[in-house]
Amino acid sequence: MSKTSSGGKNETCSFCGRSKKQVDAFVEGPGGVFICPECIDLCYNIVRQEKRRARGESLKLKDTPKPREIKEFLDQYVIGQAQAKKCLSVAVHNHYKRLLHADMENEDVEIEKSNILMIGPTGSGKTLLAKTLARVLHVPFAICDATTVTEAGYVGEDVENFLLRLLQSADYDIEAAQRGIVYVDEIDKVGKTNQNVSITRDVSGEGVQQALLKMLEGTIANIPPQGGRKHPEQSYIQIDTSQIMFICGGTFVGLDNIIKKRLGKKMIGFSNDPSKGDDEKANYSETLKQTTPEDIVQYGMIPEIVGRLPIITALESLDEDALVSILTEPKNALVRQYKRLFEMEDAELEFTDEALMTLAKKAIERDTGARALRAITEQVMIDLMYRLPEEPKGSKYVITTDVIEGNADVFEQSKQARKESA
Ligand code: ADP
Repeated sequence: MSKTSSGGKNETCSFCGRSKKQVDAFVEGPGGVFICPECIDLCYNIVRQEKRRARGESLKLKDTPKPREIKEFLDQYVIGQAQAKKCLSVAVHNHYKRLLHADMENEDVEIEKSNILMIGPTGSGKTLLAKTLARVLHVPFAICDATTVTEAGYVGEDVENFLLRLLQSADYDIEAAQRGIVYVDEIDKVGKTNQNVSITRDVSGEGVQQALLKMLEGTIANIPPQGGRKHPEQSYIQIDTSQIMFICGGTFVGLDNIIKKRLGKKMIGFSNDPSKGDDEKANYSETLKQTTPEDIVQYGMIPEIVGRLPIITALESLDEDALVSILTEPKNALVRQYKRLFEMEDAELEFTDEALMTLAKKAIERDTGARALRAITEQVMIDLMYRLPEEPKGSKYVITTDVIEGNADVFEQSKQARKESA
């Protein structure tokens, strides 16, 4: 018989060793044993997997999405970046095929996994692509940050925590997690040449790369169930990473110089005129498209890691038009969201084309890609949203450049318009 326990002071989970302080509740068994909710989940999934295996069932892969379907889904949320979308769609589709393949026995061809490296400036949509991908897929997905990892012995996380996150997103279904996808952000920050001044961090970054490499290659990783650092006395969950797909992303600042140097004279035709801001950005994007694995090695990644990332895709920096599209087109575009919020107050909201361009220009000035758009738009809208519920219903509000610059009051304008039409 078991019962829930409010727990005495020194009670710990008999499975993972966590103390009462770290969990919500324990289930108590005879003879003073306890189990925490997470270990119950884990046990439940182990039993479920074993039953599934005993029945000879394998993962359902009937509904493998086609590359075109994946790309069309990405198109609904991510503006531009056609090449990266294609690369991701094909890689993910092949990932599914490989899983299916792994279930078939007596095959003479082995499909290797093709992890992906995404290179692109800040705010160009790398994380967004990864996140959106997660929504269209039927496999567990985790987003991790390479900069949180440090070499053993330093303060920070172990790479195994990435797998823990994947396991959590799979509701502790180990079998599902072993078929999942992990997005590793800021991979460029663990490059060897990247000088790191922090004393608590792995300075060279190479140790972190080695640890990542093991996961990318395929290993049986020992995951501490409660995260953090590994301790000898802990019990571990074992995860086989050989079928997990890794997507790595990074800005790789300065990589364009390495490529340009390599291309040398072949760069004729690229403008060097700094007054042409947009051209410069286009050139930058063009240059990055020519990235080779050797360039990445020269940047500071160890060759073995680069070898495990056979697909390299570059994202473009977003120009003003792209930013305007981001404001208006995606299903969750900011302008659409604000229009809906105004509708809920029985009001109509409009942005002039010029106003949208002004917002885009302001975002470009901050040089963080599309990231600045939200902050800039919210700055304009917060005052309006604050006052809107007190205004007469059924009014129309037009956001112009003057409103954005703080030179006009949209409520006054609306009042004027109402007077004139009366
Ligand atoms: P990074 O490339 O630095 O990972 P993110 O994907 O985190 O950039 O982008 C930050 C935010 O900017 C996203 O949440 C999204 O709102 C917006 N954004 C960036 N790129 C795009 C894009 N191509 N299409 C639509 N929105 C984008």
